[in-house]
Amino acid sequence: MAKVHNFSAGPSILPREVLEKAASAVLDFDNLKLSLLEISHRSKNFEAVMERARSLVKELMQLPDGYSVLFLQGGASLQFVMVAQNLLRERGKAAYIDTGTWASNAIKEAKIFGQVEVVASSKADNYRYIPKGYTIPADADYFHCTSNNTIYGTQIKEFPTSPIPMVCDMSSDIFSRRIDFSKFSLIYAGAQKNMGPAGTTLVVVKDEILGKTGRAIPAMMDYRTHISKDSMYNTPPVFAVYVSMLTMEWLVSNGGLEWIENINRQKAELMYAEIDRNPLFYGTVAPEDRSWMNACFLLKDPALEPEFDKMWKEAGISGLRGHRSVGGYRASMYNALPLESVQVLVEVMKEFERIKG
Ligand SMILES: *Cc1c(COP(=O)(O)O)cnc(C)c1O
Repeated sequence: MAKVHNFSAGPSILPREVLEKAASAVLDFDNLKLSLLEISHRSKNFEAVMERARSLVKELMQLPDGYSVLFLQGGASLQFVMVAQNLLRERGKAAYIDTGTWASNAIKEAKIFGQVEVVASSKADNYRYIPKGYTIPADADYFHCTSNNTIYGTQIKEFPTSPIPMVCDMSSDIFSRRIDFSKFSLIYAGAQKNMGPAGTTLVVVKDEILGKTGRAIPAMMDYRTHISKDSMYNTPPVFAVYVSMLTMEWLVSNGGLEWIENINRQKAELMYAEIDRNPLFYGTVAPEDRSWMNACFLLKDPALEPEFDKMWKEAGISGLRGHRSVGGYRASMYNALPLESVQVLVEVMKEFERIKG
């Protein structure tokens, strides 16, 4: 079978060894002669999976005491709602930075629960950059940002600081680099971009920020419910949690965030160097805000697209098309994508220049 170079933006590539272990657990989990998918989530075997997944998150993030780790459902999109519902006080105010489609969806949901101050936005410039130098109001209940803007290909390199609780949607760059995670009071990430399959969302929350809104919160929407039941208030997404656990084990056993950050930097440098060098292409975002995860670029002559598409597809490359809302190309280089796949793409771009130049 010819190798496929999977640049999909999400759900996206997972390490081969993780897929193999997951496939075998679907048939026979822990030598139980039963599938992972057909045992009780309250069995001691699955409870051990949940416990291990939680502790791997704490290990990778080097979290101090006082945080809870949850594996929920509903995707990152449900967190747009839960964050506001659990943190935005009755008659309170929240501060958001608008850096793309996902950030603006989060803003829209928060407005249902209270006042939202958008402290900065790059919307007028097609989200080409990350706004900087804005002021976070000290009287807001929390500040929300998106670490990596999957669709536009920008990434926050230096996070702002503020005494108010900091909330971050890390869906598309979770565990891709070293960060001071303890700077944040709440972090969430849909698993399907960089840590596992679709179906679960990681939430890391500082316990002390909860229970202050003054509103009644339905049990399923209340972080405190899920904390008190160790993410097993209702049936958890067992497969997604298990595969996320395997991916975190893969990360830790290879050297953790320092190891992966190094590889991700190499991939991004190689990719952007070619986008800048090759006269047929150009990058769409401000160089200082370029995402290491999603590199967005365009052909200067869009009429060449069909020919270029044919070439990369023949080279075994998959998933290179930009998001349907922006077009062009997007090379998603998540943790499990090997450097070799970026090398193949760069070779195709060089070859295309040779033919067309
Ligand atoms: C994909 C994505 C989302 C939406 O995730 P769902 O799990 O599909 O709801 C939210 N935020 C970011 C940054 C994303 O990349």
